[in-house]
Amino acid sequence: MIFFKPNIGKMLNRQDVEGLIKALKHKDYRVPREAAKALGEIGVPALERLIQALKDKDKDVRTRATWALGYIKDAKALEALIQALKNDEIEYVRGGAASALGEIGDTIALEPLIHALKDKDEFVREQAAEALGEIGDARAVEPLIKATRSRVDEVRWAAEDALESIGKPAVEPRRPLRWRCPNCSSVLGGDEFSQGWAGYVGTVTCGVCGKQYPAADVYGGKYDVQPRKRKG
Ligand SMILES: [Zn+2]
Repeated sequence: MIFFKPNIGKMLNRQDVEGLIKALKHKDYRVPREAAKALGEIGVPALERLIQALKDKDKDVRTRATWALGYIKDAKALEALIQALKNDEIEYVRGGAASALGEIGDTIALEPLIHALKDKDEFVREQAAEALGEIGDARAVEPLIKATRSRVDEVRWAAEDALESIGKPAVEPRRPLRWRCPNCSSVLGGDEFSQGWAGYVGTVTCGVCGKQYPAADVYGGKYDVQPRKRKG
């Protein structure tokens, strides 16, 4: 049996969007990857057809259409990608949609991505965490801190990376930090925030009695001496 390998370069030169969409379901895994890149290079002229492809009955076409849309990064695809993230039954489509939403980087995707941190599939949760890091909005911080407690390594790492890339500025409103160690009652404080978001991950040790607490509890305000003023 002859295995027909489509010529992606030729299709790109001809701007053959339909041919490239067809190549998205090719069995040789290299072909769809090249086709998605080619569609990304064609860009906006391929947009409408790719948005349509998010509803294709073939799950591979839907998955790989999300890759192409991630290359194009056009806000016109936001709504369709959000729908795919919320509703597609295939985890690779939801994960691909999350990733593309991160590439586009629009805060409209914030809520659906935060919601996807609780997706039943760990690949989707990982992709959502990564995307939230790329969008870089501080509203994702609390849900990402929760995701750093995941038992799945990839999800935890993605959440930690995302928190680091959201960066230190978002932490400033939380100052000052004074907390009471529930074990020895010492009041502690200081410049822990100089660690940036890395300080939210792992544990904090009481400098007096040596007991350890989850960093997210300490910095999240659980042991605060004075309740933090609510913002706004
Ligand atoms: Zn203590």
